[in-house]
Amino acid sequence: MIIVLKQNINEAREQQLIDWLKSQGLGVHVSNGAYQTVLGLIGDTGKVDMELLESLDIVESVKRVSETFKCCNRKFHPEDTVVEAGGVKIGGGNFCMIAGPCSVESEEQIVSVAKAVKASGASVLRGGAFKPRTSPYDFQGLKATGIELLKIARQETGLPIVSEIMSAHDLDLFEDVDILQVGARNMQNFDLLVELGKSGKPVLLKRGLANTLKELLMSAEYLMASGNEKVILCERGIRTFSDYYRNTLDVSAVPMLHELSHLPVIVDPSHATGIARMVPPMALSAVAAGADGLIIEVHNDPIHALCDGAQSLRPEEYDELAKKIMKVREAIK
Ligand code: PEP
Ligand code: MN
Repeated sequence: MIIVLKQNINEAREQQLIDWLKSQGLGVHVSNGAYQTVLGLIGDTGKVDMELLESLDIVESVKRVSETFKCCNRKFHPEDTVVEAGGVKIGGGNFCMIAGPCSVESEEQIVSVAKAVKASGASVLRGGAFKPRTSPYDFQGLKATGIELLKIARQETGLPIVSEIMSAHDLDLFEDVDILQVGARNMQNFDLLVELGKSGKPVLLKRGLANTLKELLMSAEYLMASGNEKVILCERGIRTFSDYYRNTLDVSAVPMLHELSHLPVIVDPSHATGIARMVPPMALSAVAAGADGLIIEVHNDPIHALCDGAQSLRPEEYDELAKKIMKVREAIK
């Protein structure tokens, strides 16, 4: 249920209403927008007397929210959420370019890629230290060492870092990581989501390989219901019957997620197709669809990459793409 308050009302009256709602056992999410204040009620609202609320002189309107996702629902928070991480803003008109290798492989590799992508306009560095590989025999990431190397790259370039966390047991290792990535394979690892929710750290939540938008939003709800408002949604391609690329990029997810939710929506065109030459057209289509950012894999030596070399752009290819991204952003302004 949402309660839209009238403009310029007495703060004490607003607080009185919030306290009363809480005393009824409800959670109250307050969204103070530029034009209106919206109270989102969480919990069993079945017994709430709508007519009584509507009759209050500080209340403009009362509506029931039928969707099961509440905190991430745009009805609860009409304005775009801007997530701030390591000094970078994402969402609400702040476009964010995240780039870097699939996996951190060495200090030289991560620092050189970080410098290159920064020069092309990236504002966040990505790099996997814990890799969720399909085969247990494949490179699993440098783990704790990888995180340390990412920090060195951050020190060298000033770029905040994003890296995938696969288990809540590793939270201590990620203490100083700016954005924690929840990978597609862990989108419905609810225990992990609850712990990351409690951590309050910015989370980049990827859509699962075969998950609906509602399921993605319910996973965001797990993070938010646990107290974390810093959530970034990421469309990264889903399983369809495509046979010539890894996944199908669901570009329509971008405007639909924006309609349904106030959270920033970014797109990963690298995992979406798994083919480097397809990354630029997919990236540009995502920008045209209104994405708040892109996360793109870039490697200094893709042929010898320990993971996802086939979909990694070389730094010079990323630089060329970054220029086109600016042009598309300009065109849709
Ligand atoms: C990644 O970003 O390195 C990754 C493993 O992505 P996804 O979880 O989307 O497959
Ligand atoms: Mn990858």
